[in-house]
Amino acid sequence: MSIDAQFSTFHPATGERFGEYPITSDEEVASAVARARAAAAWWSGLSFGQRRRILRSWNSLLIEHLDDAVELIVAESGKPRSDAQLEAALACEHVDWAARKAQFYLHAHHRSPGLLMANMSARVDRVPYGVVGVIGPWNYPIFTPMGSIAYALAAGNAVIFKPSEFTPAIGLWLAKTLNEIVPEHQLLQVVTGAGSVGASLIAHGVDKISFTGSTATAKKVAAACVERMIPFVLECGGKDPVLVDRDAQLERAAEHALWSGMSNAGQSCIGAERIYVHREVADRFIEILKTRANEIKAGVNYGAATRPAQLEIIKRHVDDASSHGQVIVGDSTSVGERFVEPVIVLNVPENAPSMREETFGPVLIVNTVNDMDEAVQKANDTPFGLAASVWSKRNGEKIAAQLHCGMVSINSVFTFAAMGSMPFGGVKDSGMGRIHGPEGLLEFTYPRSVVKPRFNLPLEFTSFKRTVFADKVITTLSRIRHK
Ligand code: NAD
Repeated sequence: MSIDAQFSTFHPATGERFGEYPITSDEEVASAVARARAAAAWWSGLSFGQRRRILRSWNSLLIEHLDDAVELIVAESGKPRSDAQLEAALACEHVDWAARKAQFYLHAHHRSPGLLMANMSARVDRVPYGVVGVIGPWNYPIFTPMGSIAYALAAGNAVIFKPSEFTPAIGLWLAKTLNEIVPEHQLLQVVTGAGSVGASLIAHGVDKISFTGSTATAKKVAAACVERMIPFVLECGGKDPVLVDRDAQLERAAEHALWSGMSNAGQSCIGAERIYVHREVADRFIEILKTRANEIKAGVNYGAATRPAQLEIIKRHVDDASSHGQVIVGDSTSVGERFVEPVIVLNVPENAPSMREETFGPVLIVNTVNDMDEAVQKANDTPFGLAASVWSKRNGEKIAAQLHCGMVSINSVFTFAAMGSMPFGGVKDSGMGRIHGPEGLLEFTYPRSVVKPRFNLPLEFTSFKRTVFADKVITTLSRIRHK
């Protein structure tokens, strides 16, 4: 790699420099794509069983050295050790699921040829794209990209990963560990740098892009991909709602909504930002939420803000919400230089920027609603559609069915993300396509239809020798079938 240009990362909690990394040059990106293409040719030629064994060996190595991963995540993201441990362990869960299930979901499927083509056999193969470019964010630097990396590899692709410029260390560590298992093939390579290196990856002809990050960047990535006809998955931001019905278990609802909104310093794409609570239970719910929020502290229960520039957005949203609503926890001084203390504001108008834009900080806005129809209408009235959480003993399913988003957890938060079997992704400004689950495996392959005659019919349909009798047979069969 070229060392002409470098960039540094910093401990978010202290501002001290942590690491120095090369900005991968255009030429190096091109070479990485060429190496990945060679690796993909080898990898896609292996059987599902061979790929499974290699990926499971890699996963064992990851688990064995999990502490090393945790150190790197803590250093560059600023999150507490236990959060980094959970994140890394969940990433390994996905490697295991993808490795074990790829054969089941991606093996060739036979299809019915239909009456007119009854002499043919027909099947659909799932073909890996070749080289998948994964562009990642900084908030969950191992868990989030692994949702693409593991599934793309298990589906038979080679991967080039462009981690966030704030958290490259863990990406390089992942590539190093897989290289220990398969030293002779570059199955997973990492290119480092800011957005221009991500753009370079797209420009150098990868076969699919899996992007996770902000909606604004996603639009640029999508435009660049469309220009080159490269398919893409976009996992973007959210403004996730929590809906609390009058029959909800209020203690649990408040506790989990608080964790959803404030854990990881509020830097979770699927974290709660808006709460709609039924007016009959609003006072009690808000009281519990307030009490619990006053017991948690930045630097103890969650870490520093990873990306310094995000602090300005959080401050702007806290000021906006405070100017409209009633602040019950924290105030504008809660947004410090590196840490943000919990902030909870009540009764903020739906059209305020703090209610419509992603805050990505430990800030919750609680609005009271007359009924769950109003809660659903308000929850859906947003450009985003990532995840939602519904709290009700009796109406959870009914409310969930009306929400315009990719993931809903009833009487729980976040749990779908920990399940290998469940697709992860959003609608509207929250993105398109899916990672995780069978859908996540299918995402990294394309269908190839393959047909062949089992025996030849005396009637030729696909030939200039087609007879008038053959035409009659086709029209008669069609009339019988479709009248
Ligand atoms: P970001 O959009 O600033 O950057 C994401 C990645 O894109 C980085 O690696 C960046 O270097 C790269 N990039 C920037 N410009 C590019 C360009 N023109 N071409 C190619 N790549 C480019 O996002 P971020 O601040 O790193 O991450 C936070 C965002 O990610 C939040 O909005 C959060 O909600 C979202 N997120 C979504 C999910 C999900 O699965 N839906 C998961 C985690 C984070």
